[in-house]
Amino acid sequence: MRTNYVILSLLPLASVLAQSVDTGTAHKAAATALLNSNNTGAARLACPATIGPVSTANPPGGAGRAGGAPAGAGAAKGGGRGPGAVPAKESWYAEGGQVFDNLYLLTTQVNSAWAVKTSEGIILIDTLFGYAAQDAIVDGLKNAGLNPADIKYIIVSHAHGDHDGAVKFLQDTYKARVIMGPKDWELAAREADPPRHDIEATDGQKLTLGDTTVTIYITPGHTAGTLSVLVPVKDHGQPHMAMEWGGTALSGSTSKDMLESYISNAKRLKDISDGLGADVIIVNHTEYNDALNRFARTKTRKTDEPHPWVVGKDEVQKYLTVAEECAKSWLAIGNGRP
Ligand SMILES: [Zn+2]
Repeated sequence: MRTNYVILSLLPLASVLAQSVDTGTAHKAAATALLNSNNTGAARLACPATIGPVSTANPPGGAGRAGGAPAGAGAAKGGGRGPGAVPAKESWYAEGGQVFDNLYLLTTQVNSAWAVKTSEGIILIDTLFGYAAQDAIVDGLKNAGLNPADIKYIIVSHAHGDHDGAVKFLQDTYKARVIMGPKDWELAAREADPPRHDIEATDGQKLTLGDTTVTIYITPGHTAGTLSVLVPVKDHGQPHMAMEWGGTALSGSTSKDMLESYISNAKRLKDISDGLGADVIIVNHTEYNDALNRFARTKTRKTDEPHPWVVGKDEVQKYLTVAEECAKSWLAIGNGRP
């Protein structure tokens, strides 16, 4: 016993490190235990890829990647984030379309935006990279029988190029009003061709357009002004509530403050989602909940089959718990880092 005591007292740092590795591993295991097709992709981008005493490496596709454009992406038709060639359409294009009576998926292979159809026009949630504006947003809406000129509001989940790339173009072309978290307006202002500063979101803000009210929450963590949204949707007239967690990916360079915020906001959004009966997960990266396969199943769904996007309240809770546990895992190993 005495020997153990001496070893421990001589190696306090090693002990702390071992403990934080254990805690980090336990939180990752808690996340992993909940994985299924509704959240596996989110976990892959939010949880540390490896946990060890020297785990400063980013997970594949961590915040660094999520924040930037893919090679060759950038300013394009529709505006983007600085100069760069437009990637070949076949490298990014994916078909979207109607998912609920009043909700449409506008997508690329990697990112998703959503159009909420109301009695007074369209609320767009995110805009994809600038290069996708014409094919995925403008033509995507037209192909679904909607008019892009009806876009009245754009809610930007966070000011990274894969979500706000086409904001300026849509703002200029359709005079849409743009809502971002205050801190993400600051982020967007640093872009090469920034959108004009417009509406600063407030926490719990209710955005009503015609017959539809979307609720917006400021949930910092992935960025300081990340917005999450709750959207009422209908399936053949049956009401459901969709939840989008607006920022997901974390990395070894995410600050302690941001990790703590991410954790508290994931918990908060769980309570909010529970209170509003959220039973649908919508995402801004297709891989978070297997969105492209889910959309394919939506297209071939028979009337008596369950809706592929209606996953139930427990799955919404699980999704946010996975995000929360992944952040706790990063926090644990970050705290133990020398
Ligand atoms: Zn991002």
